[in-house]
Amino acid sequence: MKLSVSRVFLVGEEVARDVFNREEAGELLLSMSNTSQDLPRAVLFDRDGTLIADVPDNRDPAQVSAMPTAQDAVSLARSAGARVGVITNQAGVARGLLTSEDVATVNRRVDELFGTFDVWCVCQHAESDGCECRKPKPGMLLRAAELLGLAPADLAFVGDIGSDVAAGTAAGIRTVLVPTPVTRATEIDSAPVVAASLYEAIDGLFSSDDASQLEVRG
Ligand SMILES: [Mg+2]
Ligand SMILES: [Zn+2]
Repeated sequence: MKLSVSRVFLVGEEVARDVFNREEAGELLLSMSNTSQDLPRAVLFDRDGTLIADVPDNRDPAQVSAMPTAQDAVSLARSAGARVGVITNQAGVARGLLTSEDVATVNRRVDELFGTFDVWCVCQHAESDGCECRKPKPGMLLRAAELLGLAPADLAFVGDIGSDVAAGTAAGIRTVLVPTPVTRATEIDSAPVVAASLYEAIDGLFSSDDASQLEVRG
């Protein structure tokens, strides 16, 4: 495997010695992931259409189902040493279609499926409320960073539509778009980074190899 020696030494001599004493590449990669300042220290995920199938205004925990590769993707982020969070717009609350408790019930099911997330941010406003939290505004992402005690530059965010990309970009967070069949072509074309699946998105974010699977658009 390719290794950037300077990068290893960036983390300090003791760690470098420790790294070179290990024989297995897997351990080496994990060690680098846990110590490199370049890699995300937390990953935030959009909920509907990214972590779980999008069932608009869902209040039924039985209808919560993980998106393909999503559980493995969250596990991968955790095993790379990152904390994980969820950032979701739930305007159905403002519109009277579901209650805060309905949202909390569904979110608890998400925590059951994926393991408990470290941070949850939910915007329950309608678009017409003009709040600072509803994506594409960056409010929830910045709040999540604050709750995690991290700078936006230490975070990554993954979502499925253009407003996720806009929010992440506005927050100064590296953001990856994982399109679904309903994602608009213009949103895909204008996204800075696109991945074919949630797993590929996370694998790319934590890859120390330049041959990342992520498609970076200039
Ligand atoms: Mg979504
Ligand atoms: Zn809001």
